[in-house]
Amino acid sequence: MLDYHIHTKLCGHANGEMEEYVQKALAASLQEMGFADHLPMLKWAHPDYAMPFEKLHNYVQQVHHLQREYPNLQIKLGIEADYYSGEEQATRELLEQYPFDYVYGSIHFIDGWAFDDPVRIKEWETRDVNEVYEQYYRLVQHAAKSKLFDIIGHFDLVKKFGHRPTKDLSGLVEETVRCCKEHGLAVEISTAGLRKPVKEIYPSKQIMRLLHRYNIPIVLGSDAHSPEEVAGRFHEARHALKALGFTKVVAFKQRKIVSTYPL
Ligand code: ZN
Ligand code: FE
Ligand code: FE
Ligand code: ZN
Repeated sequence: MLDYHIHTKLCGHANGEMEEYVQKALAASLQEMGFADHLPMLKWAHPDYAMPFEKLHNYVQQVHHLQREYPNLQIKLGIEADYYSGEEQATRELLEQYPFDYVYGSIHFIDGWAFDDPVRIKEWETRDVNEVYEQYYRLVQHAAKSKLFDIIGHFDLVKKFGHRPTKDLSGLVEETVRCCKEHGLAVEISTAGLRKPVKEIYPSKQIMRLLHRYNIPIVLGSDAHSPEEVAGRFHEARHALKALGFTKVVAFKQRKIVSTYPL
Protein backbone atom coordinates (compact mmCIF):
# COMPACT_ATOMS: atom_id res chain seq x y z
CA MET A 1 0.00 0.00 0.00
CA LEU A 2 1.03 3.60 -0.45
CA ASP A 3 0.53 6.99 1.13
CA TYR A 4 1.07 9.78 -1.38
CA HIS A 5 0.14 12.84 0.65
CA ILE A 6 2.84 13.58 3.20
CA HIS A 7 3.92 17.08 4.23
CA THR A 8 7.12 18.35 5.86
CA LYS A 9 7.86 21.19 8.23
CA LEU A 10 9.17 23.23 5.31
CA CYS A 11 5.57 24.34 4.66
CA GLY A 12 5.35 26.12 8.02
CA HIS A 13 2.42 24.18 9.47
CA ALA A 14 3.67 20.59 9.79
CA ASN A 15 6.06 19.10 12.31
CA GLY A 16 8.65 16.38 12.68
CA GLU A 17 11.68 15.46 10.62
CA MET A 18 11.27 14.00 7.15
CA GLU A 19 13.07 10.88 8.33
CA GLU A 20 10.42 10.37 11.03
CA TYR A 21 7.73 10.27 8.33
CA VAL A 22 9.76 7.60 6.56
CA GLN A 23 10.12 5.62 9.79
CA LYS A 24 6.37 5.77 10.32
CA ALA A 25 5.75 4.57 6.76
CA LEU A 26 8.01 1.59 7.42
CA ALA A 27 6.30 0.87 10.75
CA ALA A 28 2.94 0.92 8.94
CA SER A 29 4.33 -1.61 6.42
CA LEU A 30 3.81 0.67 3.45
CA GLN A 31 5.59 -0.39 0.27
CA GLU A 32 5.56 3.13 -1.01
CA MET A 33 5.25 6.67 0.29
CA GLY A 34 5.40 10.04 -1.37
CA PHE A 35 6.14 13.46 -0.01
CA ALA A 36 3.72 16.03 -1.37
CA ASP A 37 4.49 19.23 0.44
CA HIS A 38 2.91 22.55 -0.47
CA LEU A 39 4.54 24.10 -3.54
CA PRO A 40 5.63 27.74 -3.00
CA MET A 41 2.64 29.95 -3.69
CA LEU A 42 2.36 32.15 -6.73
CA LYS A 43 -0.54 34.12 -5.25
CA TRP A 44 -1.80 34.93 -1.75
CA ALA A 45 1.51 33.73 -0.31
CA HIS A 46 1.52 33.34 3.45
CA PRO A 47 4.41 31.92 5.51
CA ASP A 48 2.13 29.41 7.26
CA TYR A 49 0.61 27.99 4.07
CA ALA A 50 3.46 26.75 1.90
CA MET A 51 7.23 26.50 1.69
CA PRO A 52 9.03 29.62 0.49
CA PHE A 53 10.65 29.53 -2.96
CA GLU A 54 14.15 29.27 -1.53
CA LYS A 55 13.24 26.00 0.24
CA LEU A 56 12.00 24.10 -2.80
CA HIS A 57 15.45 23.02 -3.91
CA ASN A 58 16.24 21.82 -0.41
CA TYR A 59 12.98 19.85 -0.30
CA VAL A 60 13.81 18.02 -3.52
CA GLN A 61 17.34 17.28 -2.32
CA GLN A 62 16.10 15.92 0.99
CA VAL A 63 13.68 13.55 -0.75
CA HIS A 64 16.48 12.36 -3.03
CA HIS A 65 18.71 11.84 0.00
CA LEU A 66 16.04 9.73 1.74
CA GLN A 67 15.56 7.68 -1.43
CA ARG A 68 19.22 6.70 -1.22
CA GLU A 69 19.09 6.08 2.54
CA TYR A 70 16.04 3.81 2.36
CA PRO A 71 16.39 1.62 -0.72
CA ASN A 72 13.82 -0.86 0.60
CA LEU A 73 11.00 1.66 0.59
CA GLN A 74 9.77 3.37 -2.56
CA ILE A 75 9.92 7.07 -1.72
CA LYS A 76 8.40 9.30 -4.36
CA LEU A 77 8.96 12.96 -5.01
CA GLY A 78 5.53 14.53 -5.17
CA ILE A 79 4.23 18.03 -4.59
CA GLU A 80 0.87 19.59 -3.73
CA ALA A 81 0.18 22.61 -5.91
CA ASP A 82 -2.65 25.09 -5.77
CA TYR A 83 -4.56 26.00 -8.87
CA TYR A 84 -4.57 29.77 -9.51
CA SER A 85 -6.63 31.02 -12.37
CA GLY A 86 -4.40 33.17 -14.59
CA GLU A 87 -1.17 31.67 -13.24
CA GLU A 88 -1.21 28.47 -15.29
CA GLN A 89 1.95 29.26 -17.23
CA ALA A 90 3.90 30.33 -14.14
CA THR A 91 2.75 27.17 -12.34
CA ARG A 92 3.84 25.04 -15.28
CA GLU A 93 7.28 26.65 -15.38
CA LEU A 94 7.76 26.16 -11.66
CA LEU A 95 6.71 22.49 -11.82
CA GLU A 96 9.00 21.82 -14.78
CA GLN A 97 12.06 22.75 -12.74
CA TYR A 98 12.04 19.51 -10.76
CA PRO A 99 11.59 15.83 -11.63
CA PHE A 100 8.36 15.25 -9.71
CA ASP A 101 6.85 11.77 -9.75
CA TYR A 102 3.38 13.24 -9.39
CA VAL A 103 1.71 16.59 -8.82
CA TYR A 104 -1.41 17.03 -6.74
CA GLY A 105 -3.74 19.78 -7.82
CA SER A 106 -5.63 21.10 -4.82
CA ILE A 107 -8.10 23.89 -4.29
CA HIS A 108 -7.59 25.66 -0.96
CA PHE A 109 -8.64 29.17 -2.05
CA ILE A 110 -11.73 30.82 -3.45
CA ASP A 111 -10.75 34.35 -4.58
CA GLY A 112 -7.95 34.44 -2.06
CA TRP A 113 -10.10 33.14 0.82
CA ALA A 114 -8.50 30.06 2.40
CA PHE A 115 -11.87 28.43 3.04
CA ASP A 116 -10.29 25.44 4.80
CA ASP A 117 -8.17 27.48 7.23
CA PRO A 118 -9.62 27.37 10.77
CA VAL A 119 -8.33 30.92 11.27
CA ARG A 120 -10.64 32.10 8.47
CA ILE A 121 -13.66 30.01 9.35
CA LYS A 122 -15.73 33.10 10.31
CA GLU A 123 -15.86 34.08 6.66
CA TRP A 124 -18.20 31.15 6.01
CA GLU A 125 -20.88 33.11 7.88
CA THR A 126 -20.74 35.89 5.29
CA ARG A 127 -20.99 33.48 2.35
CA ASP A 128 -23.73 31.55 0.66
CA VAL A 129 -22.78 27.90 1.17
CA ASN A 130 -24.35 26.81 -2.12
CA GLU A 131 -22.31 29.41 -3.94
CA VAL A 132 -19.10 28.39 -2.18
CA TYR A 133 -19.68 24.79 -3.25
CA GLU A 134 -20.37 25.85 -6.82
CA GLN A 135 -17.26 28.03 -6.96
CA TYR A 136 -15.21 25.23 -5.43
CA TYR A 137 -16.24 22.58 -7.97
CA ARG A 138 -15.80 25.03 -10.86
CA LEU A 139 -12.23 25.59 -9.67
CA VAL A 140 -11.64 21.82 -9.50
CA GLN A 141 -12.86 21.62 -13.10
CA HIS A 142 -10.49 24.40 -14.16
CA ALA A 143 -7.66 22.63 -12.35
CA ALA A 144 -8.46 19.38 -14.18
CA LYS A 145 -8.63 21.14 -17.55
CA SER A 146 -5.37 23.01 -16.95
CA LYS A 147 -3.31 19.86 -17.56
CA LEU A 148 -0.98 20.98 -14.77
CA PHE A 149 -1.73 18.14 -12.38
CA ASP A 150 -1.83 14.35 -12.13
CA ILE A 151 -4.06 13.87 -9.10
CA ILE A 152 -6.89 15.91 -7.61
CA GLY A 153 -6.29 16.16 -3.86
CA HIS A 154 -9.07 15.92 -1.24
CA PHE A 155 -11.76 16.15 -3.93
CA ASP A 156 -14.53 17.54 -1.69
CA LEU A 157 -12.40 19.54 0.76
CA VAL A 158 -15.12 22.22 0.78
CA LYS A 159 -17.06 20.06 3.27
CA LYS A 160 -14.20 20.19 5.84
CA PHE A 161 -16.03 22.13 8.58
CA GLY A 162 -19.35 20.45 7.93
CA HIS A 163 -21.04 23.20 5.88
CA ARG A 164 -23.52 21.49 3.56
CA PRO A 165 -25.26 22.87 0.49
CA THR A 166 -29.05 23.04 0.55
CA LYS A 167 -29.16 22.77 -3.23
CA ASP A 168 -28.79 19.46 -5.06
CA LEU A 169 -25.34 19.76 -6.60
CA SER A 170 -25.07 16.17 -7.80
CA GLY A 171 -25.06 17.29 -11.46
CA LEU A 172 -22.17 19.66 -10.89
CA VAL A 173 -20.27 17.01 -8.93
CA GLU A 174 -20.75 14.43 -11.67
CA GLU A 175 -19.64 16.97 -14.29
CA THR A 176 -16.49 17.50 -12.22
CA VAL A 177 -15.81 13.76 -12.01
CA ARG A 178 -16.35 13.49 -15.78
CA CYS A 179 -13.93 16.36 -16.26
CA CYS A 180 -11.25 14.43 -14.33
CA LYS A 181 -11.91 11.41 -16.52
CA GLU A 182 -11.69 13.38 -19.77
CA HIS A 183 -8.39 14.96 -18.76
CA GLY A 184 -6.81 11.75 -17.49
CA LEU A 185 -6.52 12.67 -13.82
CA ALA A 186 -6.39 10.37 -10.87
CA VAL A 187 -8.29 11.27 -7.70
CA GLU A 188 -7.07 10.98 -4.14
CA ILE A 189 -8.95 9.10 -1.43
CA SER A 190 -7.90 11.03 1.67
CA THR A 191 -8.31 9.98 5.27
CA ALA A 192 -7.56 13.54 6.42
CA GLY A 193 -11.27 14.35 6.54
CA LEU A 194 -11.69 11.80 9.33
CA ARG A 195 -9.52 14.04 11.55
CA LYS A 196 -11.53 17.18 10.70
CA PRO A 197 -14.92 18.44 11.94
CA VAL A 198 -16.70 16.73 9.02
CA LYS A 199 -15.35 13.33 10.19
CA GLU A 200 -15.62 11.82 6.72
CA ILE A 201 -13.17 10.56 4.16
CA TYR A 202 -12.58 12.90 1.18
CA PRO A 203 -14.46 12.29 -1.04
CA SER A 204 -17.89 11.12 0.10
CA LYS A 205 -19.25 7.66 -0.67
CA GLN A 206 -21.48 9.10 -3.41
CA ILE A 207 -18.45 10.62 -5.11
CA MET A 208 -16.42 7.42 -4.65
CA ARG A 209 -19.24 5.60 -6.39
CA LEU A 210 -18.94 8.01 -9.34
CA LEU A 211 -15.17 7.54 -9.45
CA HIS A 212 -15.75 3.82 -9.68
CA ARG A 213 -18.40 4.15 -12.35
CA TYR A 214 -16.14 6.35 -14.48
CA ASN A 215 -13.20 4.03 -13.82
CA ILE A 216 -10.99 6.82 -12.51
CA PRO A 217 -7.64 5.76 -11.06
CA ILE A 218 -7.27 6.44 -7.34
CA VAL A 219 -4.41 6.90 -4.88
CA LEU A 220 -4.50 6.93 -1.09
CA GLY A 221 -3.31 9.83 1.03
CA SER A 222 -3.32 10.73 4.71
CA ASP A 223 -2.35 14.39 4.23
CA ALA A 224 0.01 13.81 7.17
CA HIS A 225 1.24 17.01 8.77
CA SER A 226 2.99 15.09 11.56
CA PRO A 227 4.76 11.72 11.40
CA GLU A 228 2.14 9.82 13.44
CA GLU A 229 -0.50 10.68 10.82
CA VAL A 230 1.21 8.69 8.05
CA ALA A 231 -1.16 5.97 6.77
CA GLY A 232 -3.65 7.06 9.41
CA ARG A 233 -6.98 5.20 9.32
CA PHE A 234 -6.18 3.57 5.99
CA HIS A 235 -8.07 0.43 7.02
CA GLU A 236 -11.27 2.48 7.00
CA ALA A 237 -10.57 3.86 3.53
CA ARG A 238 -9.66 0.44 2.16
CA HIS A 239 -12.77 -1.08 3.67
CA ALA A 240 -15.00 1.60 2.13
CA LEU A 241 -13.30 1.30 -1.26
CA LYS A 242 -13.53 -2.47 -1.38
CA ALA A 243 -17.21 -2.34 -0.44
CA LEU A 244 -17.76 -0.11 -3.49
CA GLY A 245 -15.93 -2.49 -5.82
CA PHE A 246 -12.52 -0.86 -6.08
CA THR A 247 -9.68 -3.37 -6.29
CA LYS A 248 -6.52 -1.28 -6.58
CA VAL A 249 -4.72 2.01 -6.24
CA VAL A 250 -2.22 3.32 -8.76
CA ALA A 251 1.42 4.32 -8.36
CA PHE A 252 3.18 7.11 -10.24
CA LYS A 253 6.71 7.61 -11.44
CA GLN A 254 7.88 10.59 -13.47
CA ARG A 255 4.28 11.74 -13.76
CA LYS A 256 2.97 8.49 -15.28
CA ILE A 257 1.00 5.66 -13.76
CA VAL A 258 3.49 2.79 -13.67
CA SER A 259 1.96 0.13 -11.43
CA THR A 260 -0.85 -0.71 -9.04
CA TYR A 261 -1.27 -2.04 -5.51
CA PRO A 262 -4.17 -4.27 -4.55
CA LEU A 263 -6.49 -2.86 -1.91
ZN1 ZN B 1 -0.89 21.59 4.63
FE1 FE C 1 -4.41 20.32 0.52
FE1 FE D 1 -1.79 18.43 1.84
ZN1 ZN E 1 -3.74 19.08 2.06
